[in-house]
Formats: sequence, structure tokens, C-alpha cells
Amino acid sequence: MELMVASKTTTQFKQKFTIIEELKGVTIMGTLCGLCSHPLPELCRTSDKTGQTYPGYCNQYCFTAFRQGIREKVPLRNYSDHARLNGHMVWPYINIPCGWCSANKIEIKHNHFGRSNRVFCSRNCYKEMCTEGGRRAFARFLILRNMALNPTKRFTASQLSALLEPYGSIGGSLNGRAVASILRVYVARGTVRALGDSTSTKEYQIASSIVNSPTPLGKYV
Ligand SMILES: [Zn+2]
Ligand SMILES: [Zn+2]
Repeated sequence: MELMVASKTTTQFKQKFTIIEELKGVTIMGTLCGLCSHPLPELCRTSDKTGQTYPGYCNQYCFTAFRQGIREKVPLRNYSDHARLNGHMVWPYINIPCGWCSANKIEIKHNHFGRSNRVFCSRNCYKEMCTEGGRRAFARFLILRNMALNPTKRFTASQLSALLEPYGSIGGSLNGRAVASILRVYVARGTVRALGDSTSTKEYQIASSIVNSPTPLGKYV
């Protein structure tokens, strides 16, 4: 009798274990971050702005660090006030330019959600860009930014419109037609290149002069 109970428990345990293993299998088969191998939630790749802007990566940190050639953690150094922490393995901190000013860089770290996605050094820079950039400045900044992050990629106006959707009213909720009329201005200025003839859906690509320019992207808004 005792033996039966024991074997029953073992079977239940085995079943439970198999389910966990299967769940693990599903997670592993899902998309993992290209830098840190953290499993990416399905939502991240469909409706979330981080997932849309940095597909295949946790956030701006993982996306940018990978592009900068970072592949592994490094020992933490120079933390004299927390000497005990020296030598701990961490993803290296990286600096990115501010979207508006040339005065400050933004230091971003791995896994600091929200902060890893900062694009302006301060609230002030964001506000100034919105004021000086005029109507729909942030939406136009997002359009240019998505193109600049993928300088070799060609976007249609409706693809760019979809990228604005998760931002709601902050992004301006612009439809494809509204985005296309914004892009026409950028094409005339030489900020963006238009590809395709009148018979096909136009595709747009950021001008390489903008990508290689030391001028912060917000100034082109
Ligand atoms: Zn990651
Ligand atoms: Zn700034």
C-alpha cells in the first residue's frame, strides 16, 4: 500500500516535471534577446513600443550595446564607494547622444526598464524639442528616429504610422496619409529619400547624411 502511494506520488511528480520542462521548452523556442538572451514577451513584439522600436532586443540598451559590438558582461570597476561590488560581472554601461542637445550624453545600463529607453538627457530637452519643433514635433521625431535606427531599411508611410500607434495621443496617432504628407516635407529638405515610382507604394529611407551627422536628430524635426 505504501509502495503504491509512493509510486503514485512519483508519477504525479514526473508529470508535473514534464509540464515544467514543456513550459521551459516553449519559452526557449520563443524569441530571446539578441544580446542578453532574456526571453522576450510576445506582447513586446506586437503592440508595445519598446518591442516595435527594438525588435529582437529587450530595450534600447540591448539593441544599442549589440550594435556597438558588446557581447558579454565585464567586471565592474571604479566603484570606490562600494568597493565590495568591484569585480562583479555586469553589462557595460554605454553612452548615447541626447536627441536634442549636444551638451550631454545619456548613460544607459542593462535592465533598468524605462531608463534604458531614454532618448533625451532631460525633461527640458524633450520640452525644448517639442516647442521648437512645432506641431506634432514628437511624432515627427519618432518617425525620424525609427528610420535612423534602421538606416538601411525602407519604410512605407503606413508602416511608420503603425510604429506611432503605441504612443497614442503623445505620438499624435497619425494615419498613413498624415505620415506621408510629413514625409513629403522631409523629402523636399533632403532629410529622407523617397523610393519607387507613381505606380508603386512609396518607400522612405533616412538620408545617410543625417545618420552620419553629429547634429542631434531632434534638430531635423
Ligand atoms: Zn536583453
Ligand atoms: Zn539634452
